[in-house]
Amino acid sequence: MEYEPTIGLEIHIELNTESKMFCACANESSQTEPNKNICPVCCGHPGTLPVINEDAVKKLIKAALALNCEIARDTFFERKNYFYPDLPKGYQISQYQTPLSKNGYLDLPDSGKRIRIERVHLEEDAGRLAHPEAADYSLVDLNRAGVPLMELVTYPDIHSAREAVEFVKELQMILRYLGVSGANMEKGEMRCEVNISLAEKNASKLGAKVEIKNLNSLKTVERSIEFETKRQSELLSKGESVAQETRGWHDKKEITFSQRDKESAHDYRYFPEPDLPPLKIDEGFLARVKAEIPELPAQKRERFAKEYHLAEKETELYVSQRGLGDYFEKAASELANWVAEKYQSGLAPAEFQKLIKLASNYISTDLQALLRERGIEDFNEAKFKITPENFAEFLSMIYLGEISSKIAKMLLPEMFEKGGDPSQVVAEKGWQMVSDSTEIEKAAQAVIAANPKAVEDYKKGKTASLQFLVGQVMAQTKGKAKPEIVRDLLEKTLQ
Ligand code: ZN
Ligand code: MN
Repeated sequence: MEYEPTIGLEIHIELNTESKMFCACANESSQTEPNKNICPVCCGHPGTLPVINEDAVKKLIKAALALNCEIARDTFFERKNYFYPDLPKGYQISQYQTPLSKNGYLDLPDSGKRIRIERVHLEEDAGRLAHPEAADYSLVDLNRAGVPLMELVTYPDIHSAREAVEFVKELQMILRYLGVSGANMEKGEMRCEVNISLAEKNASKLGAKVEIKNLNSLKTVERSIEFETKRQSELLSKGESVAQETRGWHDKKEITFSQRDKESAHDYRYFPEPDLPPLKIDEGFLARVKAEIPELPAQKRERFAKEYHLAEKETELYVSQRGLGDYFEKAASELANWVAEKYQSGLAPAEFQKLIKLASNYISTDLQALLRERGIEDFNEAKFKITPENFAEFLSMIYLGEISSKIAKMLLPEMFEKGGDPSQVVAEKGWQMVSDSTEIEKAAQAVIAANPKAVEDYKKGKTASLQFLVGQVMAQTKGKAKPEIVRDLLEKTLQ
């Protein structure tokens, strides 16, 4: 029997505001000194009053709009009551009945499949507990208590680990484009919970729902879904039933384990937060937030396909690495100018297209390799020594045959290290192509004399031997001779 998983995601995202959700304490995820950013409000002292952080509301609405959600105009906060040592108030200020936004969707970039979003609401984060090894106590750090959190819940529209990962990745990208969160899972800026149930394909009733908590990387999202799909399939095939429960993920063993069954499910006794006024969103505020939304990944993919006609993989590189994409576009506009100037009749589309392909080729292979070698993960144009102008000139030199691809492979790392105008670097290094035919002739004669066997083979009709001889001459001239000229010359000489 084949069972299909039905998956819904619940994702918590820390918003990167300056201050916390309800007090003026700094919101610093990088703070390592425990209990540095705390005050009576986020420590839950009696008699203190929370104040809503406008920037957190704005950032959440920005994200919700980008996810095609409806925005509530009249909403309020509620208390979600539970006890835990990292929660000093004994409740979390959250939203239950009136989420700030609902009914959105995200289209997966690969398949185009639409995943509906049920709700996106605003709440506060809890603190953190540390359990020092071999100690008989635990430590409480409240730096994170009160940090603004966006909670997003999808409908169970996902049916594989791959789709779940694709959803999380695309969401991450959107949040980064909007600048509302670093959305780094490993840093805890984004935390994922998976609801998964198995049933026979097209069954009218879903199976028991299992919740997997605290997944802190894309890999664990993927692995935990794969593990649960297998575990539940095996139970169902044996005629056993799946328990409705909450399970944790064991990172080292790569398995899920039972944490809490349905009987002990929480009742949070939500009620409206009496210390905060209702939150009303007016049209002016909404319009201002809307105006700040930049071009999003999906729009960028579409525009790149129309304007540049690159391979999908290359487009995706520029969409996922925004800085690199901007750099590519600056180089492209330099190339467009160059083509327009060179071909007076205006932009020659075919020439432009060839240059764009060349540009993208060098960026996605050679340049990426140079960045990787130096351990640079995020391309930063400000720290990058090759200006788009110089890069465009470098490409035009290759295009015009002013440098061979062999020289280009030496020139690019040189520019990468020291910057500079490529034609100047070429002149300084003596890398100009050899146009002086006597120099090439001399090299050709030497190669012919040194390789009688290849010469003989060629004369007998083995054309591959000519290619070998061309290569030898190229090597002698250190890549500075044009291969076409070398070939012509050898052909004439050996006739
Ligand atoms: Zn505080
Ligand atoms: Mn929550």
